[in-house]
Amino acid sequence: MKKFSCDCGNRLFFHNNHCLACLREVSWCPVCNTLTAFEVSESGLSCARCKSSLWKCANRINYEVCNRSVLAPETPSGELLCDCCVYNKTIPDLGEPGNLERWRELEKAKRQLFYGLNSLGLPHGPGISDDAHGLSFHFKDDETSPKAFWRSIGKKERVFTGHDNGKITIHVREADTVTREKLRVDLGEGHRTLIGHFRHEIGHYYWDLLIGPNEEMLRGFVGLFGDHNADYAEALDRYYKEGASANWQNGFISAYATMHPWEDWAETFAFYLNVVDVMETVNCSELIQMPVPGDFKGLIDLYARFGILMNELNRAMGLIDFLPAVIPPTVLDKLEFVHAVVEKASSTNGA
Ligand SMILES: [Zn+2]
Ligand SMILES: [Zn+2]
Ligand SMILES: [Zn+2]
Ligand SMILES: [Zn+2]
Repeated sequence: MKKFSCDCGNRLFFHNNHCLACLREVSWCPVCNTLTAFEVSESGLSCARCKSSLWKCANRINYEVCNRSVLAPETPSGELLCDCCVYNKTIPDLGEPGNLERWRELEKAKRQLFYGLNSLGLPHGPGISDDAHGLSFHFKDDETSPKAFWRSIGKKERVFTGHDNGKITIHVREADTVTREKLRVDLGEGHRTLIGHFRHEIGHYYWDLLIGPNEEMLRGFVGLFGDHNADYAEALDRYYKEGASANWQNGFISAYATMHPWEDWAETFAFYLNVVDVMETVNCSELIQMPVPGDFKGLIDLYARFGILMNELNRAMGLIDFLPAVIPPTVLDKLEFVHAVVEKASSTNGA
């Protein structure tokens, strides 16, 4: 994540709604592509930097779950959703106590996801079409209340976080810190975070978009990750019965990655997005000067060195490790493949 500042000079953070120095409302301006302050005049709101007329995202006006804005339309009518909220097809049942707060956390993670995808120039479609393969987000809980405006599942149906043909479902309970941490411990995971879920599931979306339909990519994929035609249901069943193979650390980024080549890809892709975000943040910090080299392996090497420092800092504070595993050569090769796929997609996307 880059560093942001208000027009008054004060430091801003990605999820800020207000500047604590000049007290103005701030927003992500879709023209400046950064956080800026709002200017308020009789004709409405405008960006303090580029002076474009802006509207607040409808999810900010109605629920305060968003901090973005949209360009004011020429003929004003109704309300508009920003370039992140427009991908929501199912929002949590707001009749359920606590779900507004959970939704706010989910939106924060989703905005962070889109920030990363846009920085890398990865395509993700407009989010407003009814294209069968289009990207969409569904935030669902196992149970519905009769008051809810989400009634798409039956009372007894269970919701699983996952991806299906562009549809990304995130279980609303994952936004509860206690529930999520319990799951992390029960499943023996190094990390379990909302942004991690988004980065993993979007990995499946990009497999469908960039690997599956491309013979050359597919050959490269199978060579590194294995045969994706392996029976998925069988693999899932085996993983939950027997767990990961012994010494999985030698070839995989996480235990879950051992389950099936698709999960290995999604876990590796999520790790790649973590690395990119962390190294951008490190590079923009004033405290640590770390030259970011042009070569990818050099970047991973810096990340690993930085990870060791972060582990020490976390241990000093009694927190869980920042970087739970070393990165073995096999995983490095897989990461390099992800990097090549992303580079190719972003150049085709005109970034
Ligand atoms: Zn300010
Ligand atoms: Zn602007
Ligand atoms: Zn929004
Ligand atoms: Zn997955």
